[in-house]
Amino acid sequence: MAKCVMVLYPDPVDGYPPQYARDGIQVIHSYPGGSTVPTPSQIDFTPGDLLGCVSGALGLRKFFEDAGHELVVTSDKDGPDSEFERELPDADIVISQPFWPAYLTAERIAKAPNLKLALTAGIGSDHVDLDVAKERGITVAEVTYSNSISVAEHAVMQILALVRNFVPSHRWATDGGWNIADCAQRAYDLEGMDVGVIAAGRIGRAVLRRLAPFDVNLHYTDSRRLPPEVEAELNVTFHPDVQSLVQAVDVVSVHSPLYADTRAMFDEKLLASMRRGSYIVNTARAEETVPEAIAAALRSGRLAGYAGDVWFPQPPPADHPWRTMPNNAMTPHVSGTTLSAQARYAAGTREILECWFAGKAIRPEYLIVDAGQLAGTGALSYQK
Ligand code: NAD
Repeated sequence: MAKCVMVLYPDPVDGYPPQYARDGIQVIHSYPGGSTVPTPSQIDFTPGDLLGCVSGALGLRKFFEDAGHELVVTSDKDGPDSEFERELPDADIVISQPFWPAYLTAERIAKAPNLKLALTAGIGSDHVDLDVAKERGITVAEVTYSNSISVAEHAVMQILALVRNFVPSHRWATDGGWNIADCAQRAYDLEGMDVGVIAAGRIGRAVLRRLAPFDVNLHYTDSRRLPPEVEAELNVTFHPDVQSLVQAVDVVSVHSPLYADTRAMFDEKLLASMRRGSYIVNTARAEETVPEAIAAALRSGRLAGYAGDVWFPQPPPADHPWRTMPNNAMTPHVSGTTLSAQARYAAGTREILECWFAGKAIRPEYLIVDAGQLAGTGALSYQK
């Protein structure tokens, strides 16, 4: 019998289950490039259900309880008195989503001598201290590709929201007023702009593909250059580093994983080198920026807009500078947790758990750390 602590975001303020807006979700059979969607032996939820909150329990309550395992589900995750820290000392497995991360710091891992599996229901396992996981022989896995397209759609939406000045214009519509000039004075077309992505992995490539029909000039940088035929197909210009990319674009969308190489990448110096009036959309990780430098660049006009859905910490305090900085179109961390995405990452989480309990190999694309080293996707993502 194993003990699993699952840290999920709180239920909707109006209670659970919600009134769903639609009767179901679309069925996705495969991911771009031919990767297959999750293949658990079965699922105990209806695709389209809200699974990522405490009552949803990722649709896994029956799975754990039928097998006689102990499952604790909580949203209380921060501070030494949190339920998460109280349950950690005898936990074998911790599951959380990046939207409401159970930060597994070195100190917390030291308090969890039984911990063997840290599972991310979603993508991005930087909330786990990966070096300590390596030392301790903890397997870290995530559901690669489960929400990549969800995030790419959000990034494209936020690029358009910023460039077209959507949020202030929407506010005029809902507040009962009607000042066209006020809406138009910061609104531009995206067509013809230089648009770049930092990292052309699964999400970054999907963003490039989605932006191509807007007749923009596409750019990218990545520590691994794309094959020439893909560059030609996307008509995208490669830059050897972030510095040269940001100087060549009007809009930059960030899709690099968070690790030593990308931490605090958007600092005052890099921001100062960008074209005046640039836009940044960051759906990767907030710690890839210096938050105060972003707010200052918006105030000075170096940046015309900043959007994204990632913050640090999560949830951010009420006085986080990004809540009130000018010309932002931020959302909470939601891009990868659409109901469509939840069905996929809940199924993928179950697939990983089925393999784990059966002693079968977890798909390499789901592995971040295994057997004391970066493995699978982790080996490609979290090092140059
Ligand atoms: P991926 O593994 O498919 O791609 C990562 C890419 O980054 C690879 O091409 C790699 O070569 C490149 N890279 C690594 N280090 C780099 C560096 N220093 N400079 C430039 N490129 C570098 O990952 P993905 O699925 O596209 O996800 C990317 C990131 O997006 C994740 O690590 C995660 O942090 C974030 N994410 C956010 C959400 C959300 O809800 N906002 C959801 C999923 C993923």
